[in-house]
Amino acid sequence: MVTRSRAPLPRLVVAGLAALVAVMIAGGTAGRRNVDRLYENSRWVMHTHDVIDALSSVRFDVGPAITAWRAFLPSGDEKLLAPASDALTRSREDLARLTDLTRDNRRQQARLGELSRSVEKVGALIEHTRRLRREPTFDLEREERALFEQPPELIELRSIVEDMQGEERRLLAEREQASRRAHAVALSAGTVSAILGIVTVGLFAWLLARYLRSRDRAEAEIWAQSELLEATLASIGDAVIATDARGLVTSMNAVAARLTGFAAAEAIRRPLTEVFHIVNGDSRRPVENPVAKVLEAGSIVGLANHTVLVARDGSKRPIDDSAAPIRDRSGALVGAVLVFRDVSHRRQIEAELLQANRRKDEFLALLAHELRNPLAPIRNGLQLQSLGTLDRDGLERVQGMMQRQLEHLVRLVDDLLDVSRINQDKLELRLEVVNLVSVVRSALEICGPALAARKHRVATRLPPFAVHVRGDGHRLTQAVSNVLSNAGKYTPDGGSIEVTLAALGEEATITVRDDGVGIPQAMLARIFDLFAQVDPSLERRQGGLGVGLTIVKRLVEMHGGRIEVTSAGPGTGSQFVLGFPVMPAAAAASESRGHDGVAPPRATTPRRILVVDDNQDAATSLAMLLSFEGHETFTAHDGRAGIELAERTRPDVVILDVGMPDLNGFEVCRRIRAEPWAHGMVLIALTGFGQDLDRQRSLDAGFDHHLVKPLDLPVLETLLGNLGVGRAASRDSASAAPPAVGTV
Ligand code: ADP
Repeated sequence: MVTRSRAPLPRLVVAGLAALVAVMIAGGTAGRRNVDRLYENSRWVMHTHDVIDALSSVRFDVGPAITAWRAFLPSGDEKLLAPASDALTRSREDLARLTDLTRDNRRQQARLGELSRSVEKVGALIEHTRRLRREPTFDLEREERALFEQPPELIELRSIVEDMQGEERRLLAEREQASRRAHAVALSAGTVSAILGIVTVGLFAWLLARYLRSRDRAEAEIWAQSELLEATLASIGDAVIATDARGLVTSMNAVAARLTGFAAAEAIRRPLTEVFHIVNGDSRRPVENPVAKVLEAGSIVGLANHTVLVARDGSKRPIDDSAAPIRDRSGALVGAVLVFRDVSHRRQIEAELLQANRRKDEFLALLAHELRNPLAPIRNGLQLQSLGTLDRDGLERVQGMMQRQLEHLVRLVDDLLDVSRINQDKLELRLEVVNLVSVVRSALEICGPALAARKHRVATRLPPFAVHVRGDGHRLTQAVSNVLSNAGKYTPDGGSIEVTLAALGEEATITVRDDGVGIPQAMLARIFDLFAQVDPSLERRQGGLGVGLTIVKRLVEMHGGRIEVTSAGPGTGSQFVLGFPVMPAAAAASESRGHDGVAPPRATTPRRILVVDDNQDAATSLAMLLSFEGHETFTAHDGRAGIELAERTRPDVVILDVGMPDLNGFEVCRRIRAEPWAHGMVLIALTGFGQDLDRQRSLDAGFDHHLVKPLDLPVLETLLGNLGVGRAASRDSASAAPPAVGTV
């Protein structure tokens, strides 16, 4: 939401408005003056008419006086003179009015004097005649002549009146002309000012319309920009709040509304501190608002660590925030913009990473401890042997102990490699038809010595028929022996362990039950997690890295099966159930190759074996062991010597260390393979790397088998025992599948 201040009118519009006002004032003033002038002129015209009328009145009023005089003269009846005196009185009144009316005109005033005297002369004539009539000498006949002539006083009066009226008519003509002129001027001035007014109004209207149009356009653009800005703000994944220079919220986007708990409409115009309430993540004390700092310092305030936002409903979430000043074009600080984001997820990941790192450190410490454990007795055994004082019995016991510790070490390393494969999703199964009865027997055989050592009673319930599943016999045995070995480890000496294989419908279950230490309820759900151990304290542990059950669960799942653990709690024993889908008998019969999928017992067949290893002790000791088993052996300590010896001695089997300087095992293998005399020779790679990729590299170089150090002699023996059949088959048939790569 964006607030806008009202934009000032543009100068042109203001100028247009001023011009309009000026034109209106000028027009009004001129109009007023013209009206005044017109009024003045008409007043003078009327005044002139009044003067003319008054002069006519004087003249007409004198008329009845003369008529009365004419009536009186023959009769001498003075009563007949009464109208004359009235007429003269009216004439005098007219003269008095005329004096007033002609006060502005000196000439007329002078003539008025003459007119007044002339009226008085008429009065004097009447008076004279009245007196004369009274006299006895009055001669009517003589005087009667006068009745037929105009008396000179009247002629004079008429002449003066006409004169004065003439003057007034002239003035009237002048004034009427002036009035017409004023009218014409007023008319044209009115027309001009009207035209000017219309033009100015038109101009102003045009300017205003243009301004309004441009303002509409600008407004539309501003709205478009503002909408774009709002859309942009809304699309930003971070929360954004803008404030004015006083720190009052002017806009906020939806993320900010969600995180603060304030709707944008509610937040606007509120102080930011009310909407954006932050505290220190550690102390929970309020911390200074970054916007306040920005408004004070005018510079960007960077990310603050450990800031917690307290939302309106009191919920808290860690945030990262930063604020920057908003400046107008002139560079003046007009507000601040605050950007923050919820970092709960990141913090959680950081905490998890920290935890993982801690667990890794713990695991490395545990690993070091676990590796050291078997190494100590092996070293002791070696020292005992070197003393040369052991009798045959003692020697056998020491060697048995060393063998067990070595196997333990190898198992640890194997487990680690398996875990690594699981994590990379690279664990692979070699599927075939497997009889679970054989799997359980093999597991019992593998764990037998350890279970016996702890004097456990092991009860086994196996069905009298084969239970076939599709699986990897080696891996299934590994899974069952792991669970069985755990039962032995986590059950005090002399405990009872029960192993049951049952085939119910479409599922076969292997149940391993013990009456050992049991598992707390809370741990049951986590027992299959990597590195999970009920009691990781070194003194209470039974040895192990906490990876066994993770591998078991993964192996079971890879076979389409399930694993379950139950325990009524500490001290009540535990039960593990491994369930697998059973193969229909017909399918199992048609796919089975006559063995139960589990490695057959080894058979010793004497071979000519060349061991090539740059580590002379390793080569010599392996050769000695093989000699004791009845094989004829040769050793070489570098690649070239190995090739030469192979050509000379033509062994059945060449065991090649891969990591040799100069010519490495892969190269030696390739060269031997290229020789015609090497036809039928079995090449076995010996290396510390056991990943599938390493095995593939060995195959690609031409090896028949890939064994991982340290070498498990029984496995090598089994391999050597089976060579005659497998080797011949793979060599003699061009279409044969690539030879299997053994696993140790
Ligand atoms: P490790 O045995 O090497 O510690 P595992 O993954 O095999 O690792 O087992 C994980 C944990 O589960 C063990 O440390 C132990 O605490 C517990 N556990 C496994 N099997 C049993 C059992 N049969 N009885 C009691 N606890 C067991």
